Amino acid sequence: MSRALCPRCQRPVRACLCQWIRPTPNEAALLILQHPSEVSQAKNSAGLLSLSLARCETHVGEQWPEHELQALLDPNRQPLLLYPDTDDLPAPGLDTESATAPRQWQLIVLDGTWRKSRKMLYLNPLLQRLPRLALTDTPASRYRIRRARKPGQLSTLEASCYALAHLEGGRVAYSALLEAFDGFNEQHLAFRPSQP
Ligand SMILES: [Zn+2]
Repeated sequence: MSRALCPRCQRPVRACLCQWIRPTPNEAALLILQHPSEVSQAKNSAGLLSLSLARCETHVGEQWPEHELQALLDPNRQPLLLYPDTDDLPAPGLDTESATAPRQWQLIVLDGTWRKSRKMLYLNPLLQRLPRLALTDTPASRYRIRRARKPGQLSTLEASCYALAHLEGGRVAYSALLEAFDGFNEQHLAFRPSQP
């Protein structure tokens, strides 16, 4: 079998996702912190997300030295961690004065299973100190959340698009990318061996 990789998306040619890329001019910046176990996952959605968004950076790791993580934060933007407020690790509140222009947000998303994301939060005290955005607060996400069995089962792509749309007050459309993501999922399902 050919091991050739697509030069653009770096996936095996038969699983190339480039046809699903939808250039999207997001205003709020996105920082994806990707758990190493997600890198080789065929159905991981962060690759399609980062290839589509105009303002997006991805860094792979589980634990970072504090100064390295600090350097990933944009000093001109207010960082917000996309993560629920939890009882064991409560997040500091965000004063409303900081909630300024949409271009000044930097949304940080942890790309991993629920368990791996939680571990990343525990291992990186800097992330614990960031104010958070809980997706259940965003009206735009209700439809999708109802479709998923529970909020935690949203993909990184879906969760990020809904959170960005919320921060931007709906000025940027994510529907084309979300629709393309459905196609990407169907392509992925088609590769699975048939169920017994
Ligand atoms: Zn490709």
